[in-house]
Amino acid sequence: MMLEGKVAIVTGGTRGIGFEIVRKYLANGAKVVLFGSRQETVDKALAKLAEENAAWEVDGMCPKLTDAAEVEKAVTAVKEKFGKIDILVNNAGISQSTPLYNYTAEEFDKCIDLNVRALFYAILPTAKIMKEQGGGCILNTSSMVSISGQPAGVGYPTSKFAVNGMTISLARELAKDKIRVNAVAPGVTRTDMVAALPPAVVERISSQIPLGRPGEPEEVANAFLYLASDLASYVTGEILSVDGASRA
Ligand code: NAD
Repeated sequence: MMLEGKVAIVTGGTRGIGFEIVRKYLANGAKVVLFGSRQETVDKALAKLAEENAAWEVDGMCPKLTDAAEVEKAVTAVKEKFGKIDILVNNAGISQSTPLYNYTAEEFDKCIDLNVRALFYAILPTAKIMKEQGGGCILNTSSMVSISGQPAGVGYPTSKFAVNGMTISLARELAKDKIRVNAVAPGVTRTDMVAALPPAVVERISSQIPLGRPGEPEEVANAFLYLASDLASYVTGEILSVDGASRA
């Protein structure tokens, strides 16, 4: 049990990588509050987890992540209910693939709002709580495109470069408060989005990955487990790639 007694918030925890992080944390003894975008998907995720293990302590909320006041209220509610917050995982995110000349300012802003601003909105109230309680751990979901860029959808790699900048900078700033800040940078991962692609497309994508296949959400969640645990007690400011060497 690597996270026995810890309290964690996981944004975007209703499906994909976030859902696997929630499962992995629960299976390792943490109490988890998952943040989703709609009550319906939150309820569905909670039902699935209860079916797997009725003893797991898990709750769900759906604050608008791009609204600083709503997020602060939700974070405060978690602290009030569980008495502390040890781990914050900023995982919710959207990707884009629009060519530059088809972009609108609104589309670009949407990506930056959720993938960058929302992280800041969650980190600010949580870091204050963590400082007061004597430490904590903040984890952000970056992407391999934060290293390599991508040939279309410039808002997405731009947002993930910003995630890395926020991670490395806050690691330096918050170290004195015993708050570690790290990110995980997944490559192509078999979430619903990838699973829905035709097998021929998955085969073409896989052939470009040195390890020869997309990653599984659980493999990405393992990195989040390690970084949240005491095994990573001296690791901060790290962007951990989990991408089968795709970024090279
Ligand atoms: P997904 O679409 O399966 O899940 C995204 C999660 O974010 C969902 O739980 C969804 O509810 C939540 N979300 C989306 N928009 C939201 C909003 N406006 N408000 C609140 N929550 C919202 O995607 P995923 O692949 O699991 O992606 C999770 C993270 O991993 C993202 O940050 C993504 O950029 C990153 N990532 C994914 C891949 C991949 O190949 N799947 C690769 C690199 C990085």
